[in-house]
Amino acid sequence: MNNLTDILYVKNVLSRHGFTFSKALGQNFLINPNVCPKMAAECGCGTDVGVIEIGPGAGVLTNELARNSYKVVAIELDKRLIPVLEETLSEHNNVKIINGDAMKLDMSVLITEEFNGGEVVICANLPYYITSPIIMKLLEERLPINSLTVMVQKEAAERICAAPGTRESGAISVAVHYYSEPQLLFRVSKGSFLPAPKVDSAVIKLNILKEPPVSVQDEKMFFKVVKAAFSQRRKTLSNSLSSGLSIPKPEAAKILEQAGIKQTARAEEITMEDFAAITETITLLR
Ligand code: SAM
Repeated sequence: MNNLTDILYVKNVLSRHGFTFSKALGQNFLINPNVCPKMAAECGCGTDVGVIEIGPGAGVLTNELARNSYKVVAIELDKRLIPVLEETLSEHNNVKIINGDAMKLDMSVLITEEFNGGEVVICANLPYYITSPIIMKLLEERLPINSLTVMVQKEAAERICAAPGTRESGAISVAVHYYSEPQLLFRVSKGSFLPAPKVDSAVIKLNILKEPPVSVQDEKMFFKVVKAAFSQRRKTLSNSLSSGLSIPKPEAAKILEQAGIKQTARAEEITMEDFAAITETITLLR
């Protein structure tokens, strides 16, 4: 049986295929034997729950997912890794490898075609150069998935999981909490990867909500407000909303007043309900 956490074995397979790591594609492969079994066990895949993996690399996580789920669909951008994966995953007959860009693929079509209405989760050690865009794309598309379990940089994990209204929160925290209930599962040290990145990582699980925690008439405006509020996070909300939404300052002040929010409040101090109240006030005034 292949041991994809054995550095010598992995280096040997990769070099036989003439593979060299690409920093630009965020290629840091897991070599800590404890991480993938834990991710596969906690992501919610199973005998009747399929799983999509983004960026299988040399297949270390894919291998664990294949043992835990009836079907794995793994999307890898780097075509040099396809023959590697065909070799390392040859013992499994429930894995489909797709050579494609997870940012461009129509996931909704893929899910219908590959899982035929069955339950699906996403599990991945994400390439760090596109962590937030990938997470936001997967959430915004409102895919029929139960959850997203992903490894990201530790700081990104903390930011994503921070509750709106707390110092650590940012636009991504509010957006993620709008679509899901995030949970920080466990931390992973930088020494767990080949090559080792500069910072530690963490695995987070985003449990998809059936309904957003707040209801707004204009969802696009809600996200515009969140973006504007955090675009200058040290400024007061009346200043950041005024510049971020291109509205005169007195108008921004009036919106805050009508929404029942202090003029001096900052983006990181207000809750999801407050963001919704600002959005509804703007929608009503327009
Ligand atoms: N899953 C493997 C592991 O844990 O060892 C590899 C993880 S590595 C952090 C990220 C992987 O994502 C690399 O294999 C990289 O080639 C791939 N990748 C990068 N950008 C991608 C994209 N846009 N779509 C799909 N895969 C991508």
